[in-house]
Amino acid sequence: MSATRSLVVASNNAGKLREFRELLEPLAWQVSAQADHGISAAEETGLTFVENALLKARAACQGSGLPALADDSGLAVTALGGAPGIYSARYSGAHGNDRANNAALLEALADVPEGQRGAQYHCVLVYMRHPEDPVPIIVQGSWPGEILSLPRGESGFGYDPLFWVPEQGMSVAELSPELKNRISHRGRALTALLEQLGR
Ligand code: IMP
Repeated sequence: MSATRSLVVASNNAGKLREFRELLEPLAWQVSAQADHGISAAEETGLTFVENALLKARAACQGSGLPALADDSGLAVTALGGAPGIYSARYSGAHGNDRANNAALLEALADVPEGQRGAQYHCVLVYMRHPEDPVPIIVQGSWPGEILSLPRGESGFGYDPLFWVPEQGMSVAELSPELKNRISHRGRALTALLEQLGR
């Protein structure tokens, strides 16, 4: 059995934290949240998922003295030119208000017919060993789907009730957490990260 290793997840998003715990704890990682170390949210001033994930990871390393895992992720809708993109958490104006963000997305797509509502979830993960780490590990994962006209399902978080996964014939909020973790943008990125870390 492998020795336990510790990392801090550079997020205050309860849905992301839950998914990282589900994915990493069975692999003997001891996972803490940045709030456990008194670290508040880093300002996301970047223009790409990569820049924002680096900012979050560095702040969490600095505040905790531990290696940090940061996730910057979001939804890119083709008919909206890739929006909400890096602004996914604050699409409606209020940061982290899933209900308002979903309402804003439905409103923006009100005139877009079925068949033209393609979208992708994207996740960039950064693993930074210490604040001056010159070679943080950077990986990404994507997940294609379509945006529904009405929400379906109760699980997951964020845009999951509106994100339809054609191969599963369900919205993400109708998938079991295990299945979401295995096939999601975050699950795919984490698999790539663990391969680079040598598990
Ligand atoms: P971040 O915390 O700044 O990276 O913002 C991520 C935002 O993207 C979340 O608040 C959600 O709106 C959206 N998002 C990212 N991943 C997911 C997911 O797995 N399900 C639903 N929404 C997601």
